[in-house]
Amino acid sequence: MSFGVIREAARETPVSARTDVLVVGGGPAGICAAIAAARNGARVILAERYGHLGGLASGGEVIVLDDMADLHEKTVGGLCDEIVERLDRLGGAVYPPLEDQFVSSEAAWARWGRWGLQDNYARTRPKTVTYAVSFDPEALKFVALELLDSAGVELRLHTTFVDALVEDSALRGGIFETKSGREAILASAIIDASGDGDVFACAGAPFELGTYIMTVVHRFANVDVERAIDWERAQPEEAERLNREIKAIYGSAWDYWWLRTTIDGVVWCNCPHIPNLNALRVEDQTYVEHEARRRIFRALEFARANLPGFERAQLVDTAPQLGVRQTRLLQGEYVLTKQDVLSGRWFEDRIGRGRDYYYPYRSLLPRGVDNLLVAGRCFSATSEAQKMSREIPPMMVVGQAAGTATSKRSPGSSCSWIGAGAGGDGRGPRCWRANLSALAVVSSLRRERVARICASKTGSGIAASCCH
Ligand SMILES: Cc1cc2nc3c(=O)[nH]c(=O)nc-3n(C[C@H](O)[C@H](O)[C@H](O)COP(=O)(O)OP(=O)(O)OC[C@H]3O[C@@H](n4cnc5c(N)ncnc54)[C@H](O)[C@@H]3O)c2cc1C
Repeated sequence: MSFGVIREAARETPVSARTDVLVVGGGPAGICAAIAAARNGARVILAERYGHLGGLASGGEVIVLDDMADLHEKTVGGLCDEIVERLDRLGGAVYPPLEDQFVSSEAAWARWGRWGLQDNYARTRPKTVTYAVSFDPEALKFVALELLDSAGVELRLHTTFVDALVEDSALRGGIFETKSGREAILASAIIDASGDGDVFACAGAPFELGTYIMTVVHRFANVDVERAIDWERAQPEEAERLNREIKAIYGSAWDYWWLRTTIDGVVWCNCPHIPNLNALRVEDQTYVEHEARRRIFRALEFARANLPGFERAQLVDTAPQLGVRQTRLLQGEYVLTKQDVLSGRWFEDRIGRGRDYYYPYRSLLPRGVDNLLVAGRCFSATSEAQKMSREIPPMMVVGQAAGTATSKRSPGSSCSWIGAGAGGDGRGPRCWRANLSALAVVSSLRRERVARICASKTGSGIAASCCH
């Protein structure tokens, strides 16, 4: 039902800042984009709508770093590694030691199965334990703040992008809502890392609306985890039956509906799965927030009454950020397909590697809007491809590449590095170089110019560090 429209008065909006690179969204992709751009010499502003950084990985309580390895070896590095090292130093990261990685054995599974640190694509039984990291979301928020600060990024929290400033099909900046009113930020290059493609949608770039399950991620505290694990090992059939009942209460959940966390006695529940909704619609968002809590409290009651180890369990929190996996998907210069992901297609303009698949630079490039790059889960992909290639570490790689593309000049020349090659598959690290000045990579790279990007096998640049 429509109640008509109202016409708002025209207004003047103060320009609060001008910068080289403006990153919208402080999730995994945005954090890495901002750090990479700043480390390469650009003046960078990062604007984030919430009061914390990390996006879904902190506010959404998505606390396992996945897709960092193929079946045999670690394939993602760069800023993701730095983040893990810092999490580790704060006591906020748990991952299998080298001797347990890429191992399928009952012993390894007994140690790591309930952490969710397995290779989800492995066909082995038990599943192959992999290099994946369980982490503390509060530690991630702090690590991100520290890294951005030391890179010299100007951070603007509680700053929500609401409109695009487009002039002759070039994006010049954004309009933001803050507690002190509306403000404009102007920039030579803008990176849309909002996850939902808020910037490219406002700027008029073509996109499609995807959908996937939505979740209110939550954590139970006061769980006797060791007792719960011992019991399910001793009574596998009964455990299977009760877990089926809980999953029915949730509606749907992954195989293990609870996983261990870095905090003793606290378990992570990456459920329920609520499908077929539009995560950009207020009505659907509101429905999920309410319906999920109905199911969570029913599941908690059932677990307390029936599951050994859960007798004193309490809901410690629900994620403040709704678990949205997919909304707008850019339809950019190249649209990544499921087949590309499954076959690990080797693109000439690849800028990074996830598990065993690659991202072409063109999947970050919108059509019809200059000065804009897209990083993160709204990059240019089909819905099916995005579902398989949107995990946190690969989105960090894509962010790092986007930030580098907007800023990095190779020493003594006008060339700019535009991304990271990949190794780990016998081809060794490579870099890609654009015959364009740093910001021109973003501002004017169109289809015919993409074709002119030439490969450079020299230099380690970001290729060596971003992924291997
Ligand atoms: C329930 C769930 C479970 C998942 N499980 C896993 C898992 O186990 N392992 C894994 O690796 N990945 C998992 N994922 C996927 C992963 O969390 C995301 O794909 C990843 O976080 C995407 O990173 P991003 O930076 O692109 O987007 P996001 O994490 O969504 O970050 C976007 C950021 O932009 C900000 N923003 C949005 N709009 C605006 C605006 N208008 N103005 C300013 N700021 C804005 C947001 O607040 C947020 O900080 C899961 C996702 C969900 C939802």
